[in-house]
Amino acid sequence: PTERRVPGGIALVDVSHYQPGLQVFFNNQPVIVVREDNAAIAVVGIPLSLDPSAPAQLMIHSGKRVIDSVSFELSAGHYPTEHLTISDQNKVTPDAESLRRIRAESAEISVLLKNIQYQHINFSAMQLPTKGRRSSSFGRRRFINGQPRKPHSGIDIAAPTGTPVYAPAAGIVTGSGDYFFNGHTLFLDHGQGLVSMFCHLTETLAAPGDEIKQGDLIARVGSSGRVTGPHLHWSLSLNDARIDPELFLAPITVDADGTD
Ligand code: ZN
Repeated sequence: PTERRVPGGIALVDVSHYQPGLQVFFNNQPVIVVREDNAAIAVVGIPLSLDPSAPAQLMIHSGKRVIDSVSFELSAGHYPTEHLTISDQNKVTPDAESLRRIRAESAEISVLLKNIQYQHINFSAMQLPTKGRRSSSFGRRRFINGQPRKPHSGIDIAAPTGTPVYAPAAGIVTGSGDYFFNGHTLFLDHGQGLVSMFCHLTETLAAPGDEIKQGDLIARVGSSGRVTGPHLHWSLSLNDARIDPELFLAPITVDADGTD
């Protein structure tokens, strides 16, 4: 992946001088370490919520014991602001029953984003999962009907309902669900804590346990959940941090166009 040391980005940290058996943790989550010849690089997902003015710290573990730490600097992400209008008021200010549902679902989603079943990991470039206009980029600070909401934790690709969704990289399907905000959703584990989440689908075409190759048809675009129109929302989670999926695509990508 492309390195970008900002909240929502990726840090590539050299840990070559540590013994091969040691584990690397960030924010209490295990971090992927890629070993090649005599080099070892930790591929660290940085949460959007992290304060970039404080130095970030990798913890080096031997079993349960912390034996060292490695600090690295972050810069601010400078994500743009975005204003959205949602006509379904209960999707903006949910009632008590909806809030209970949202809490239960958010616990389920957070488990699925950490559910690692696939050990193989391949860091070659991912493919965009569907064709369409990039309607919203990662990290945008969102206001919905004028109210501040969580920043955008993925990228949006606008496409007509029924447009095929293809696996951006190989993996195993680890879950699916129908959620209040995310609508019909599919989880694809690419290995060792790198997990894709596809939202607002009209149809899922793969089931938990399915082994998927890069480019396999896995779902169809829809407008389920909280949306302004049919689109695919693609989140990518690395060591339980939602990071910008653009960093995993081949470098020649077109910028989001900055509208809606
Ligand atoms: Zn989105």
